[in-house]
Amino acid sequence: MPKWTRRVLAVLFAIALGYYWLAVESHVPSGHYSIDIAELRRLANSIPGPKPREIRVERVATFQFPAAAIMAGGSWKVEDGPAVSYQIVYPDRTVIVDTAMDQATTKAMGRATFDPQAFAHMIQAMSSASLILVTHEHPDHIGGIATFSEAQRLTPSVRLTREQAAHPEQAAPAKMTQGVFQILNYERATAIAPGIALIKSPGHTPGSQMVFIQREDGAEFLLLGDVAWGMRNVENVRERPRFITTFMLHEDRDAVMLELAELHRLIEAEPKIHMLAGHDAAPIDALEKQGLLIEGFM
Ligand SMILES: [Zn+2]
Repeated sequence: MPKWTRRVLAVLFAIALGYYWLAVESHVPSGHYSIDIAELRRLANSIPGPKPREIRVERVATFQFPAAAIMAGGSWKVEDGPAVSYQIVYPDRTVIVDTAMDQATTKAMGRATFDPQAFAHMIQAMSSASLILVTHEHPDHIGGIATFSEAQRLTPSVRLTREQAAHPEQAAPAKMTQGVFQILNYERATAIAPGIALIKSPGHTPGSQMVFIQREDGAEFLLLGDVAWGMRNVENVRERPRFITTFMLHEDRDAVMLELAELHRLIEAEPKIHMLAGHDAAPIDALEKQGLLIEGFM
């Protein structure tokens, strides 16, 4: 084989290897992350009072990103991924989980469309919510709190975990004002309201947590936050590619992989729990069709 041919082959091999490492490779490392569903159910039933009767969703913005950015080894076809806010409705109060972001933050985050009406509904609902939580401290989840005018008004209802509060840099380009929230101190899992338990899931960000909801009628939901952007991450036990996790998000890839493996186990062990990934329209659409999720806040 001529020398130049060997050189070309070596360069092509290096490029292929680099592409594989950056965009395709995804494996489950050694270690363990566990979700004790019996404990979450016990916690969800530990605070007296009627449990939630419905869950509503507002799609405040829609990102456009290639499937290859959502899951390692995905295609380069561009897909829509909604940035949402959930409203958990009780007979006498509401709880909001995730607050998406305002128009300026949406624009600063890249290719996305913004729905001003959905945002306005969410802001109005935030004003009257008894509790406002975020799955994590990224701008597309905490942005509604960060840009809320007269943010002090939200202080009685906003609870950030101590890890979320300790990492305001994760909210950039949104800016979190100190003192407009109360600190939520818990170790692994906690009850937060009748029918709602939280479980820590650090990795995507230091302050990531998942939200388990058991409604009055017994239907159960698990909001994954951005542990997974799409349910395909859980179904295939595959992380986002390294060009996203290592160079853009700076996340703890091993921790996220262990969480995905555990969620995958949970899908098989508890197929009736409705999981909602951070930016996946398909499960939202499907649950709306079944009447288990309602489009638009009340
Ligand atoms: Zn997100």
